[in-house]
Amino acid sequence: MSDIKICSRCVMDETAIEINFDENGVCNFCHHYDDVLVKEIFSNKGGEEKIQKLISEIKEKGRNSKYDCLIGLSGGVDSSYVAYLVRKKYGLRVFAVHLDNGWNTELAVANVEQIVKRLDIDLQTYVLDWKEFRDIQLSFLKASISNIEIPTDHAIWALLIKTAAKMKIPYIIAGNNVVTESIMPESWLYGSKDSKLIKSIHNKFGKVKMKTFPSLSTLDYVDYLLVRGIRWVPILNYVHYNKAEAKQILIEELGWRDYGGKHYESIFTRFFHAYYLPVKFGYDLRKSYLSALVCSGQISREEALEEINKPPASKEVLDNDREYVIKKLGITELEFDQILQSPNKTYMDYPNNEAMWKRFNNVIKIARKRITRVD
Ligand SMILES: [Zn+2]
Repeated sequence: MSDIKICSRCVMDETAIEINFDENGVCNFCHHYDDVLVKEIFSNKGGEEKIQKLISEIKEKGRNSKYDCLIGLSGGVDSSYVAYLVRKKYGLRVFAVHLDNGWNTELAVANVEQIVKRLDIDLQTYVLDWKEFRDIQLSFLKASISNIEIPTDHAIWALLIKTAAKMKIPYIIAGNNVVTESIMPESWLYGSKDSKLIKSIHNKFGKVKMKTFPSLSTLDYVDYLLVRGIRWVPILNYVHYNKAEAKQILIEELGWRDYGGKHYESIFTRFFHAYYLPVKFGYDLRKSYLSALVCSGQISREEALEEINKPPASKEVLDNDREYVIKKLGITELEFDQILQSPNKTYMDYPNNEAMWKRFNNVIKIARKRITRVD
């Protein structure tokens, strides 16, 4: 452990293969954070003014429609706080989509129910076909790559964009944000936009035909966001977003209850963060999330180090989750152990669209500018 070099400013270390350090021992992720911060965060420089302008534009555009905007609601802090902001603070008429992939905790479901009730938001829950989705998740486990959450993340993203198109809601207001998510090595979590990767892994390891899984190709992406002009607004980049303060507001005003861990609103996600990644790959995603909080000044480096030295979940929780995952996916202990012990792979070992994404980078950049632009 002591041989691993840690950044002098954040808590990222050499378990991320991309890391390098400058002469002061500050890592490239910190420098990236500073770059992104300057470009994408507006909370300190007229963010409120920009958001007010955007809100009036959204209201104007939605004048003759039933809804002003679409949000995804997982029950987690980020998306719950987005619901609070758009509904209560800005008074928009909101349609919310919740994805049920079969792994939500009871607490997450209770939080979603509380939020839509208290904020008077219309909600649609989209339930994935379990037999099909289980087969896709199992394929990702058999593929031995780090990001086995790609199918869920992709489904949420595709569902939001498709719902917006179908219901003709021009704005998707999202909870992705630079403040808490900008430090993430690609080797740990390759992006979830790549539907070719999902298809190739599922073709290789799956048994059930993929029929209903919500998916978007690169061309769909360009079509929906550029041609049809659906706009994706990462609203938390425009407001002062402090996680601890946001939680407090949710608890006091919406009866929201805490999960005790980022993204622990889903049992599979908790298994992924606290068991699968640390045990199979030696990755601890808390390093990335806590580093972003350190860089944004929400916690100190010492607090982050202290947190990382604790286990990601209690042994009891880890054992229960392991047992639950094995049972729910319908595999044997032996099959599970084989998955954990088989050689680690990366997304590059399977056909994927990374090259095409890079080639279309300019188009995407224009699209991103258009969908994130607020002025
Ligand atoms: Zn750093």
